[in-house]
Amino acid sequence: MKATLETKIGLEVHCQLTNLRSKLFCGCSANYRGKEPNTHMCPVCLGLPGSLPVLNSKAIEDAIMIASALGADISSRTLFFRKNYFYPDMPKNFQISQYDQAGGVPIAAGGSVSMGNGKKVRIRRIQIEEDPAKLSYEGTIDSASATLVDYNRAGIALMEIVTEPDLESPNDARLFLQNLRSILEHLGVSDGSLEGSMRCDANISLGEGRRVEIKNISSFKEVERALNFEIARQKSLLDRGAEVKMETRHWDELRRVTVSLRVKEEEHDYRYFPEPDLVPIAVTPELIDKVKANMPELPEMREERFVEEYDLPHEVAQTLTGNKRLADFFEDCVKSYPDAKKIGNWLVSDFLRYLYEAGLDIDESRVTPDHLVKMLQLIDSGVISGKIAKQVLKEMMTTGRLPDSIVEEKGLRRISSRDYIESEVEKIFKELPQAVNDALSDEKAVNYLIGELMRRTSGKCDPTLANEIVSSKLSKLKSKQTAA
Ligand code: ZN
Ligand code: MN
Repeated sequence: MKATLETKIGLEVHCQLTNLRSKLFCGCSANYRGKEPNTHMCPVCLGLPGSLPVLNSKAIEDAIMIASALGADISSRTLFFRKNYFYPDMPKNFQISQYDQAGGVPIAAGGSVSMGNGKKVRIRRIQIEEDPAKLSYEGTIDSASATLVDYNRAGIALMEIVTEPDLESPNDARLFLQNLRSILEHLGVSDGSLEGSMRCDANISLGEGRRVEIKNISSFKEVERALNFEIARQKSLLDRGAEVKMETRHWDELRRVTVSLRVKEEEHDYRYFPEPDLVPIAVTPELIDKVKANMPELPEMREERFVEEYDLPHEVAQTLTGNKRLADFFEDCVKSYPDAKKIGNWLVSDFLRYLYEAGLDIDESRVTPDHLVKMLQLIDSGVISGKIAKQVLKEMMTTGRLPDSIVEEKGLRRISSRDYIESEVEKIFKELPQAVNDALSDEKAVNYLIGELMRRTSGKCDPTLANEIVSSKLSKLKSKQTAA
């Protein structure tokens, strides 16, 4: 018998502080996305000789807010360290970061993120550091014909959040990241929907195997894939009695494999030492109090409020608040439509399913709260059935058209003309005498006739009328039979 191998996963999440207007240590604009490469840089973020970093104090406030939200302990005095490494994404050959050894004190440590299923993932440390430049490869990383570098991103403020290895599956990892993103978005410090604003590295070990680090996972969708691949790879090594090497691997999104980058460097390879150009930062209780006083509503509080205020089931409230943009969408709908429960149900079922099927993020969908409310009103006024509405919702998602125009153009309006339905039923009774016979003796077979009517009218027939007309026609036939 083969025992199942214990899987331990830890994540290192890098999150850009997208609410800052300038980079972490210079005045360069942080609004670099979509800009011409290498146009947002200065001597400081390029690390030119003689330039000196100046800390953006707003980053400290963001960090205090994040640490408080995660229940971490905030250091009263924190230091920046140089993390030395030789790689073209950092022109000065070191990254200004923080360190939890050799006298280094990161801004915060401890705390946790609850997963919503009773489980908690412990946070090891939270630190502030600068983003490196963005490298892109012509070809693949292990056989690139050229490497391009864009320094616009170099020096952007990052928060690094490191977990303990508390995650037990790739699915756990995805859930954790979703919950963390919702917290950061509620705090307003991060816009997780921006490309590359949240990235993550993962550590994974199986059974007695060594720990492998996977770098360069660019989105949440990729985290699960990369971890699943890595579990399969390590398992097959261990099954053959081979060794899992301690190394750093790169996730290749296109080929969907991890490739070996380098045998993992030890911490001392980075030759950490205190950054001499920055003084230690005192984090005073007054500053912490000031930040805490302005803390916005967090997902867990919002979930409770949704249950109280809108009478939503816990599960629905939890799913909605697990994504800030979904929760905002919900509350926008509630403003113009009274039945909050109905909105919640549509959002957590069909709306989320269609998004998932289309591989879209919530703000890539073209459905607005206005669209959804108008669709619900069409159901309420009897213009379409709930079943047809699903079709309309799917169409709205990709085209962004209003529901009434979809209903008109596709002829989806409910058929409630008695004459029309009667003539259709007439035809069915003529064409399917056997089914009619069955229905006369068996209640269940009546549904077959009604189903046939629905099929022929593409589900648009008013169900109450359909029932009534088929039943009355059957009972007429029955009384004729008895009379005969
Ligand atoms: Zn700069
Ligand atoms: Mn880092």
